Amino acid sequence: MMSAMGDEHTTSAPWRTNLLSYVSRLDGRALVEINTVVIHATELPTLAMAREFAEVIHYPGSQTGNSGHFYIDQAGQIACWVSMDRVAHHTVGYNQTSLGIELVHPGRYPNWLDSDQQAWDVPYPEAQIDALVSLLRYLKNTLPQLHHIAGHDELDTTLVKASDDPTKTVRRKRDPGPTFPWPKVLEASQLMPLLPKH
Ligand SMILES: [Zn+2]
Repeated sequence: MMSAMGDEHTTSAPWRTNLLSYVSRLDGRALVEINTVVIHATELPTLAMAREFAEVIHYPGSQTGNSGHFYIDQAGQIACWVSMDRVAHHTVGYNQTSLGIELVHPGRYPNWLDSDQQAWDVPYPEAQIDALVSLLRYLKNTLPQLHHIAGHDELDTTLVKASDDPTKTVRRKRDPGPTFPWPKVLEASQLMPLLPKH
């Protein structure tokens, strides 16, 4: 059920803000540059572990690291770690014009690149997906050029050597993975797939 236009404008942002230490050193951008949301899984079981990872400095020149803009835990709590007017490092080649949303999910943890442990069978809790949908709806109503959505696994198809057997290859990125409910999220968000779904 769509709410009246007036209601959309008075709805406050559905997140709490808890910025990473290096946000002021990330490149700035105008909000009209944002046209795509990229869905990620942390491939870490807890929000605290994701925070520790996100705070690591990966780029000595800028003294910044890898992270999404938003994090949603299994209970559906949404946090903003990077302001939308900053470019976060979350998807190679797509950062300038996208927002990264990270769902706390174990993925292939802790043997991400082991060829025998590529299964991805943990479902996403309903509360987490409901929170994602409410965030996507808010963003679509707030950002004038936001029309598209993609999974990290669609935008980064790099294969790397398996950690257990260098003669085998595995996907470097598999998130948000086969248990992510794409049909539900696409219908509820009214965002269009950036790439054709197969
Ligand atoms: Zn990702």
